[in-house]
Amino acid sequence: MSPLSPTGASLVEPQLLAISWSDGTTLHYPLDHLRAACPCAHCQGHYEGEKPPLHKEQFRGIGLRSLDEVGSYAFQIAFTDDHGLGIYTWQHLRGLGFAEGEAPVAEPHDSFEV
Ligand SMILES: [Zn+2]
Repeated sequence: MSPLSPTGASLVEPQLLAISWSDGTTLHYPLDHLRAACPCAHCQGHYEGEKPPLHKEQFRGIGLRSLDEVGSYAFQIAFTDDHGLGIYTWQHLRGLGFAEGEAPVAEPHDSFEV
């Protein structure tokens, strides 16, 4: 399996990140979805089942603060809730992305439970 790497990352909407990949694919990442998938121990617990999973509804309206490459394998992503511990490996990111136009962007009229 040849490792894929990002060739670019930018916000296409205030809450939608696009990452282009070395195979020519561009995937979209709603920031609330990305934040809920934060892989750090603070968010996911140190062991399975320690914490309830995060839901993107908890992060509605969240913004991107920074995105930094870590080594040659991951992005460290910081969000506007002052959380920036998550190291998102590129392999993880590939699995989190949506094809262009398929990202479930939050509708203002959605009903949801907190
Ligand atoms: Zn986290």
